[in-house]
Amino acid sequence: MTIKAVPGAHLQVTCTNCNATKTYCAKSDTEDVAMLKATHAFKVANWFCEVTDFTARSVGVGRWYCASCYRLTRR
Ligand SMILES: [Zn+2]
Repeated sequence: MTIKAVPGAHLQVTCTNCNATKTYCAKSDTEDVAMLKATHAFKVANWFCEVTDFTARSVGVGRWYCASCYRLTRR
């Protein structure tokens, strides 16, 4: 599940495994900057992005896992 924009100027990411969601508030940023900041914020929160499309030009594209599911995938 890739980061997607949510009405109200938020970016939301959904865990591929358990459908947990995390949002990032990106009110005053452009879309590109918001994606970068959101990706960073999610990674700081221990969310993990498994890159599935290496030709994608934007960050945050791929399968996302929440912190607890990421631990499970690393066994
Ligand atoms: Zn999860």
